[in-house]
Amino acid sequence: MAERPSNLDEAQQQRRMAKKEMIKPLLGNECEIHNYSLQKITVGILGTGDFARSLATRLVCSGYDVIVGSRYPKCNESLFPSAIEVTSQREATNRANIIFVAVHHEHYSTLNKLRDGLMGKILVDVSNNVEVNEREESNAERLASMFPESTVVKAFNLISAWALQSGARDGSKQVMICSNSQEARCMVVEIARNMGFIPLDFGLLSSAKEIENLPLRLFPSWKMPIILTVVLFVLFYVYSFIRKVIHPYVMKGQNVFYKIPISVVNVALPCVSFVMLSLVYLPGVLAALFQLRNGTKYKRFPCWLDQWLQQRKQLGLLSFLCAALHAVYSLCLPMRRSARYQLLNEASALSRGDKKNIWVEEEVWRMEIYLFFGILAIGMLSLLAVTSLPSVANSLNWREFNFIQSRLGFTALVVSTLHVLTFGWRKAFDSTQYKFYLPPTFAITLIVPCIVLPTKAFLFLPCVNRKLKRIRRGWETSHQAKFREPGEADSVAHFSMESTSRV
Ligand code: NAP
Repeated sequence: MAERPSNLDEAQQQRRMAKKEMIKPLLGNECEIHNYSLQKITVGILGTGDFARSLATRLVCSGYDVIVGSRYPKCNESLFPSAIEVTSQREATNRANIIFVAVHHEHYSTLNKLRDGLMGKILVDVSNNVEVNEREESNAERLASMFPESTVVKAFNLISAWALQSGARDGSKQVMICSNSQEARCMVVEIARNMGFIPLDFGLLSSAKEIENLPLRLFPSWKMPIILTVVLFVLFYVYSFIRKVIHPYVMKGQNVFYKIPISVVNVALPCVSFVMLSLVYLPGVLAALFQLRNGTKYKRFPCWLDQWLQQRKQLGLLSFLCAALHAVYSLCLPMRRSARYQLLNEASALSRGDKKNIWVEEEVWRMEIYLFFGILAIGMLSLLAVTSLPSVANSLNWREFNFIQSRLGFTALVVSTLHVLTFGWRKAFDSTQYKFYLPPTFAITLIVPCIVLPTKAFLFLPCVNRKLKRIRRGWETSHQAKFREPGEADSVAHFSMESTSRV
């Protein structure tokens, strides 16, 4: 009985706390709680360069009071609109609440004389480097160690002076922000939002190095796919050069070196495109085989397969590029002078002979079917390329995206294979096609699809497909647990649990 009142108090207190919690917004960003008034903030900018000028104009347009600090205020005053006050660096730092340091980081040491004015203020470091990982510490961290009495925020380095000028209509809109002070970060988030940009909170100042490295990266995810494309192109080019140019020269003394810029390139391009497209679907097939072998999806793929899976989009886009170039090259083939001469020669040879009809029904049909599959394949590849654009992909739900990229993509591979097969027709069985004993180029390109297509067909078998689907939903064929008794060193008790379906 004695405990009853205290239990009641506790319950009341808990109810009151729950009420307080319910008042808070569920997805509330803490930054939204501070609603900084624009009028209260005077934004200072150190520097009068390209970035400072665009930033100052943008800030004024967004409703802020801006004061610019320059080493030569008189000379640089005319560079700014009249609404912006250009004064000495000291006066600007004294009067502003938040200061953008639009000065190259090499010159940070010259700001030492402004230490008193910068004390207790927020410094926004917008600087970029020339090289990735230029120094051990980031520019923002260096600025923070130079001015420990100020709060440093890293932001706006990914926004160009041009993007600032065009008011976030052009160029990147994302502003990555980090700082050790939550309040300072929120203030810059608010400023970025008011300027029409999309602020992204990157947390503590230790993220500054990553943010500074971002604009210096040169297509990091494209490196391997581009190298692969170039290597494949060189290999196929040399191979077809030997077959199409060197062989007639050596065997018959024919000079067909004119084929180097168009004909030989137009053999290499479709080969690269086809092999790259097969390489888009090979890792998926291998991943499925791994999962079937392991009986679980929770075991990590080998590193090489993981990376390969991540680069399928780039491989696919490069495959599309080569296919599009192949289409343009093919359309240009009849425009060449050599093609016209050949046609005329054949016509005059015919008129001299008594053969009147050169119509070969089989060849006519082969060409029609070959072109049909080619046009269909390039149409499908175009659709795949368009849907891989983030803006288009964002408008699709997961099922739609998966349908296009997986089902339609695979159909594109099947159609491309049919395009290659109708091109080859009987050439693979014709001994004259084996120049220097080298098989025709198209036959070599079929190696990877010959692995991908039958394996995919095997994965589509109902019994295999059902098992794969269950594995992908978390089912495991065997589930092992190892128990070690306390103090037990070598004798380990193994308990093997037969899997139970957890679909
Ligand atoms: P900028 O055109 O070369 O201007 C730099 C300004 O720094 C000068 O106008 C100068 O103004 C001032 N400054 C102060 N102390 C200096 C000193 N000791 N020596 C030389 N100049 C000094 O450079 P910016 O393109 O505006 O870039 C400024 C900062 O913004 C850089 O850190 C850059 O990485 C960053 N940023 C630029 C862009 C962009 O698109 N330009 C984009 C993102 C980030 P006063 O003579 O008036 O003092």
